[in-house]
Amino acid sequence: MLIEEMTMIEFEDGLKKTRTVLIPIGSVEEHGPHLPLSTDTIQAIEVGKKTALKVPLFIAPAVNYGHCRSSRTHPGTISISTSTLKSLLVDIITSLRSQGLRNFIVLSGHAGGSHCMALQDAGEELIYHYSDISIAVVTEYLLASREGVQIIETPGDSHAGEIETSRILHSHPQLVKGSAQMEFPSFPSSGILVRNKRKYWKNGVWGDPSKATAEKGKILEEIVVQKLVDLVIEIEGFTEEN
Ligand SMILES: [Zn+2]
Repeated sequence: MLIEEMTMIEFEDGLKKTRTVLIPIGSVEEHGPHLPLSTDTIQAIEVGKKTALKVPLFIAPAVNYGHCRSSRTHPGTISISTSTLKSLLVDIITSLRSQGLRNFIVLSGHAGGSHCMALQDAGEELIYHYSDISIAVVTEYLLASREGVQIIETPGDSHAGEIETSRILHSHPQLVKGSAQMEFPSFPSSGILVRNKRKYWKNGVWGDPSKATAEKGKILEEIVVQKLVDLVIEIEGFTEEN
């Protein structure tokens, strides 16, 4: 049930079927020379829609922007601050709760550390504020990389590499512009923060896109969808009472 396409009557009827909503969170971020800037958003929406075909589930309109630290100076990245991201998620969940939703799956297509921390922070604040809600914060990248480990050939593959390129080759092949070479960033291991991120991460790839195939993308997408179906069932039965 895609909230953005529903009427208010359909929304009201939907609440009789489920009180669970998935909120896709994306980013506008460079994804190498070959993938679209909205790769993270596209992936999160795609698996959300496919999960909703298998279980009763509201899909909220996606948050198209995220916080991007390592790629912020690469062309095309449009980053929002962690405080804005946190406030946005708090407001969206608060409003959805007032509409009757009680279980919230925050699914991020972007897996950056500080970005995910902001989402978790929002969730932590909300569960202490409202005793009648459950919140899960997950990144679809982790679901794909952990569970799909048998088919991923590149150790340490993450951003715009084998996994993400395979995913977009499967779901949106028309958006893949050629291929890209294997690359891993070389940020200072000392922990020193750098201004010119691109100097240390030229092409914005973290992994090996040349190992990507649409078939791998299909399998990875199915794995993520199944994990989300399991999560919907788990969160709907979740209680902290003994
Ligand atoms: Zn990504």
